[in-house]
Formats: sequence, C-alpha cells, structure tokens
Amino acid sequence: MKKILILNVGSSSCKFQLFTEDLTLLGKGLIDKIGIKGTNFSYENINGNLIKKEENFDHQVLAEKLKSFISENNICDFNDVYLMAHRIVMGGELFKENILVEDKNTINKIISLSPLAPLHQPYNASLLEEFFTKYNHITHAAIFDTTFHTTIPEENYLFSIPLDFYKKHQIRRYGAHGTSHQYILEQMKKILGKENVTFINLHLGNGASVCLIENSKSKNISMGLTPLGGLMMGTRSGDLDPSVIFYLMNQKNYSPKDIENIFIKKSGLLGIYEESSDMRDILKGISQNNKKAILARKMFVQRIKNYLAMYLNETKKVEAIVFTAGIGENDYDLIKEIFNNFFLKKIILKDKIEVIQKVNLISKEESEIKIYIIKTNEELNMARIAKNLLKNKEIKIEE
Ligand code: ADP
Repeated sequence: MKKILILNVGSSSCKFQLFTEDLTLLGKGLIDKIGIKGTNFSYENINGNLIKKEENFDHQVLAEKLKSFISENNICDFNDVYLMAHRIVMGGELFKENILVEDKNTINKIISLSPLAPLHQPYNASLLEEFFTKYNHITHAAIFDTTFHTTIPEENYLFSIPLDFYKKHQIRRYGAHGTSHQYILEQMKKILGKENVTFINLHLGNGASVCLIENSKSKNISMGLTPLGGLMMGTRSGDLDPSVIFYLMNQKNYSPKDIENIFIKKSGLLGIYEESSDMRDILKGISQNNKKAILARKMFVQRIKNYLAMYLNETKKVEAIVFTAGIGENDYDLIKEIFNNFFLKKIILKDKIEVIQKVNLISKEESEIKIYIIKTNEELNMARIAKNLLKNKEIKIEE
C-alpha cells in the first residue's frame, strides 16, 4: 500500500503521521524532550496499538533515530512511502508558495533562512536534507508555515522601523501556524457554503496566534517576524514594548542570548504562573485559589480580547470567530471568559457543550457573530497540499 509520511519537527519535539494515498490516517507518532533528559518515542496506530520507547539523544541524530524507530517497529516500510511532507517554519521572502523539493540547492535556500527562525529552521532543514538524500524514490514537499500569510497587505506586514530594514534585511511580519489557519479556512468554506469567507481564527495551543481571514485570504496575523510575537503563549512572551530589551541589556547586563531564551522559553503563562506553562495545570492552580494562576489566565484572556477587538474593526463583516488547538478546542470556560464583558459585539454562547465534535457551533441564534470550535488538523492539511503539488506536477509533465 502506498503511503504518505508527514514530518513536523519543533525545537524539542518531532511529530509524524502516516496516511494512505487517499488520506486515511494510519497512525500518529511523537518524539518529545529531544535534547532534554528522557527523550520519549511513542506511536499509536488507528487500532489503538501503542509503541513506546525511551532513549536520550539530541537533534544531531534525530533523523537516524526516527528512521530506525519506524523501521524496527514495523511502523512502515520506507519503500511504500511515495510522498513526504516536511513542515518548514520559515519561507521568508524566498518561498511564497509550498514546493516539491527537486534539488539540494532548494534545501540550501531553506537553510539560508535559519537566522530568521533559529530554533526550528535548522532542524526542519536537516531532517529534510537527510530524508531527501537517503530516499530519492520519495517525492519531498516543503510546506511553509508562512506561505498562507503572503497575502497580508504591506501596511500590516511592515513594522514601523526604517523601511530600509525590510529592503535590506527582509525584516517584516511573516506570521506562522499557516497550515492550521488554512485547514480551518477550508472547513469554514464548507460550513458557510461559499468560497469567499471572512472570519477570525484563534489557534490557542502552546503556541498561540490570531489570524484575520478576509475573503478567504490571510489579512493579518498576530505572530511577527518569528512565532514569538502576538498573543501571550505557553512559554513565549508575545508582544511587548521593545524598550524592555534595551533596558535589560543596557541597565541590567543581560546578553541578547539570555533575553532571547527568557522571552521564548521562560515567559508567557509559565513566566507569570511560575510552576507550569500548561493551561490544565493553571486551571488546577485556579481551583486552589493560586493568585499567580488566576493572574496568568486573566492576562491570557485580556490579550485575546484585545486582538479580537482590533481585527473585528479591520474588516467590514466578520462572519464568524473560530477557536482551535489544545486550549481553543477544550477549554470552553476560557471562551466564555473572553466574551464576558465583550463590549464591541453581542456574543451569546450556549451554556455548555457536552461532547466536542470536529465542528461545533457554540453561539446561540441571537449572537451577533457565530462562534465555533473546530478541531484543527495540520498534518492532514500538509498531506493534502503535498498531494496537490504532486498532482499539478504530473499534469504539467503530461502537458
Ligand atoms: P502545541 O502547540 O504543542 O501543538 P496543543 O495544541 O496540543 O499545543 O495545546 C496544548 C495546550 O492545550 C496546553 O496548554 C494544554 O494545557 C491545553 N489543553 C489541552 N487540553 C485542555 C483542557 N481540557 N482544558 C484546558 N486546556 C487544555
């Protein structure tokens, strides 16, 4: 049976999913805590069979370890895989579309964008390179997190610093979470029954971003040059006054590297609650009346409200607001907190949702805007995109 393998490598984790040619999911795998003590492998197929393994290693040997985990546990035979989709965080100004990787030169261009996403891009590229070199019977697709946002107008993608910084150094808002926002867009087209839809999508997971989609195109995204900007996240700071950086550097002797590490790994929900970055732990803290947990959640909610207000005012008619990803799909009380004292629009939510389905309309008839919870599926979207790229290539060859 021909198979499609999807790879999504992060700064400390690597997710992979296996699909049949007609996009039926066969199983999901995860390697986490890479480079941290106790790296875990797990793979669960659709029948619920679970394979687990623990071994310490870092990114340098990830490709090798992943290949042997897949082969040794008979997860799949690489001879059956005809298509692989690799998630690449940064497409920069070089890649405005997703592509099939035809040569080493393309991989070098992807590597050249590493300074714009140093925590992800080198790992994304090295796995792509390894699999591209080793398995040349497989077609490899590079799916960029930024491609979906290339439609953002310049007044939204430029920062208000000298224009030369964009021209010379390509410093601009690239955004991220593109595959998730795009998957939700495809769902919304089906739900609203038309091609051109305008809505706001909130991807609230460990990483979090808000995207304004106008007439089915990304018009604004909270994430910035890198996935550090925008909303408050699990461990990332999101937006803040840039002078905080200069104050820390100039007056308190922090190095740029220290500050980067603090803003990316020690801020956000973790920075305020101090005990965990996980919303479920924060909820536990709140149930015990922990003041820091209460404050962390309050800040998280307020920043979402602020972005919603901004984006609601940026387009003529927002038809829906959608919540997705770990927090967005599961934390119904958080959505209620967001629309409690939401002065801009009358949003009336259903009291509770018994079981969360793939698509859930959670607002009542009398609500001014429809509110949905929709489960995201980035890997399925990557598989679809890769299949389409291959189909288009085959059509071109036939012509
Ligand atoms: P990632 O960005 O790593 O893919 P996820 O989309 O899996 O993250 O989201 C992880 C977040 O979702 C964590 O903060 C986790 O606590 C939160 N989450 C998962 N389930 C629930 C739940 N039932 N209630 C509240 N938060 C939840």
